[in-house]
Amino acid sequence: MLIHLLTIHPPIVEGPLQESILKRAQDEGILDIRVVNIRDFALSKHQQTDDYPYGGGAGLVMKPEPVYGAVNWCRDRAPAAAKPPRIILMDPQGKPFCQPLAEELAREDHLVLVCGRYEGFDERIRAAATDEISLGDYVLMGGELPALVIIEAVTRLIPGVLGDIESAVTESHTSGLLEGPQYTRPVSFEGMRVPDILLSGNHGAVDRWRRDQAVRRTLERRPDLLEQAPLTFEDKVFLAGLKGEAPPPPPEGKRRRRR
Ligand code: SAH
Repeated sequence: MLIHLLTIHPPIVEGPLQESILKRAQDEGILDIRVVNIRDFALSKHQQTDDYPYGGGAGLVMKPEPVYGAVNWCRDRAPAAAKPPRIILMDPQGKPFCQPLAEELAREDHLVLVCGRYEGFDERIRAAATDEISLGDYVLMGGELPALVIIEAVTRLIPGVLGDIESAVTESHTSGLLEGPQYTRPVSFEGMRVPDILLSGNHGAVDRWRRDQAVRRTLERRPDLLEQAPLTFEDKVFLAGLKGEAPPPPPEGKRRRRR
């Protein structure tokens, strides 16, 4: 995947992109992440990328010409036979970022992430974009951290980026549930013990326990997620027990087998 990250402050993003898993994935050629300085596409002598808002008011607005110049430059560098790039503005007014959107973006060939600063974008910049994404209902100083968040969430889903592909599957939100508790050594720490079942060596029982804990944790912390989560019959039985409700009727197949 090719990712262009457009910013007027490259140093904010350059360090994090050269560490750990992202660095390895780039070294291995799985990812190609290029930081593009929007200022290089400014037309004025002073390389101005912002200007006063028409109609007055506080702050400065990002000018359209440098952003368009930078976006078009990236478009011209699309990999051969790639799908058209997704041109994504970081914007608190955009679509809220979430795991399904990360999964959708992970299937693309070319992402262009555009970071705003100051009071945000001149309205005409929106016409250059295919998407506008918000990290949440709060306002940051710029789009650089949101762009890094999107890069982490998206690229860890690309095969080969994470060493252990398993860990991407049971993670919170991937299955529609939060992940349950995890433990590592020591067995006992300040009086808190690892649950015996995890030490039992019974893989089937461990899997069931993990699944039950994921259901429990989601009920406790994010009951809203349970409405959409794909729950099995066994999950529903466990959930009914947690809520003190009657267990659900067995599905058709199970009933027939019992007769
Ligand atoms: N005046 C704008 C906010 C500008 S904040 C408004 O009221 O809508 C400056 C820049 O920071 C934005 O252009 C955007 O790129 C980035 N930014 C701030 N908060 C963000 C968020 N929650 N999600 C994504 N980007 C954000």
